[in-house]
Amino acid sequence: MLTATPTLLDHEQTMTLRKLLEERQRCLTAVIDAHLHIEGTLGVPAAVMDSDDSTRAAETDFALSEIERETAEQLAVERALERIEAGSYGICMSCGEPIGFERLLAHPTAMRCLACQSRSESGRT
Ligand SMILES: [Zn+2]
Repeated sequence: MLTATPTLLDHEQTMTLRKLLEERQRCLTAVIDAHLHIEGTLGVPAAVMDSDDSTRAAETDFALSEIERETAEQLAVERALERIEAGSYGICMSCGEPIGFERLLAHPTAMRCLACQSRSESGRT
């Protein structure tokens, strides 16, 4: 056993990360709700009616890509919380080694250890 390699999370570390994830989930849900509410508003203000169509289309595209990004993150947070429940949280899905508390603290939704993540980012899997 090498002591320098990341270790499995203890109970307290798991609870800390779970709190972070739940906080993030609440925040994302509120942001997505707000965006969807704006998108779904039927009573269009006069100012928007006056602006030309291309500007409005660009704004809608921007809002939609924002929602997409937020929804994707929300899904990642949800999966992380599910893995906590299942007891597989903090374990690299590629090599099965512990991801490590430090890395998870910075990226609570990380599913791979640093080595596997940089491998997949460089395009070699
Ligand atoms: Zn790995």
